[in-house]
Amino acid sequence: SKATLFDKGAKVNITFADVAGLDEAKVEVMEIVDFLKNPKKYTSLGGKIPKGALLVGPPGTGKTLLAKAMAGEAQVPFFSLSGSDFVEMFVGVGASRVRDLFKQAREKAPCIIFIDEIDAIGRARGRNAIMSNDERENTLNQLLVEMDGFGGDTGIIILAATNRPDVLDSALLRPGRFDRQISIDRPDVKGREAIFKVHLMPIKISETLDLHKLAEQTPGFAGADIANVCNEAALIAARKGKEAVDMSDFQDAIDRVIGGLEKKNKIIA
Ligand code: ATP
Repeated sequence: SKATLFDKGAKVNITFADVAGLDEAKVEVMEIVDFLKNPKKYTSLGGKIPKGALLVGPPGTGKTLLAKAMAGEAQVPFFSLSGSDFVEMFVGVGASRVRDLFKQAREKAPCIIFIDEIDAIGRARGRNAIMSNDERENTLNQLLVEMDGFGGDTGIIILAATNRPDVLDSALLRPGRFDRQISIDRPDVKGREAIFKVHLMPIKISETLDLHKLAEQTPGFAGADIANVCNEAALIAARKGKEAVDMSDFQDAIDRVIGGLEKKNKIIA
């Protein structure tokens, strides 16, 4: 995902139709979209609208995409930042960025704020971190202050993504903060088929292409890997001067992406 360094309340055109699979997660986020669209309906009986939700799942599974789709569906501006942007920042910059972001968000509410890789700033305080502890703590503290500083009726929903909910500071998970967790898992064969369908849309494919087979041949692939396969296959076929992308091109593309994934895993291990 690499959410852009600082999405300053951009309008988004992405909708749930762009997000394939993730049926259970979609049901949960639709509730949140409805909070943004019809806040009064929910507060009329004295209930408090949740401020934040955590999207939990491995890289490339569509967390950023889903967050953007929520903004698209609710037709509200989308603000984002990534926890990793705060790594190696000058003292005080992290906290002031957070303050700025919330200031702008309040001016444009209703809106969505998305914090990618929240674990980079939200690790339990006192544990070893990438950033100098003080600066990371300042940033995290500022985030907590901002979250507590507005009521649920302000129309700001804060979404945060992580694949390590276990390392998060418990302060973040308290009621009134990120008190909902939505899990975004790697797609099963049905999900992969749906993701292929979305990413094959712009591609000229041969009539003999077997979608189900492609899904079967890509166990463990995340949505981002599938998007990558579709693009690679189109380039491979084009390089060969073909009129349409066929099964053998996809085979080559899958092999190539598997090769890339293995390399990545080796580096991590
Ligand atoms: P990261 O943890 O690395 O930030 P992420 O979970 O936020 O990853 P995205 O950035 O949303 O993943 O996904 C990257 C790209 O992969 C998307 O822009 C999209 O092209 C494709 N993709 C991922 N999941 C899906 C999905 N469920 N349906 C359609 N496309 C998907």
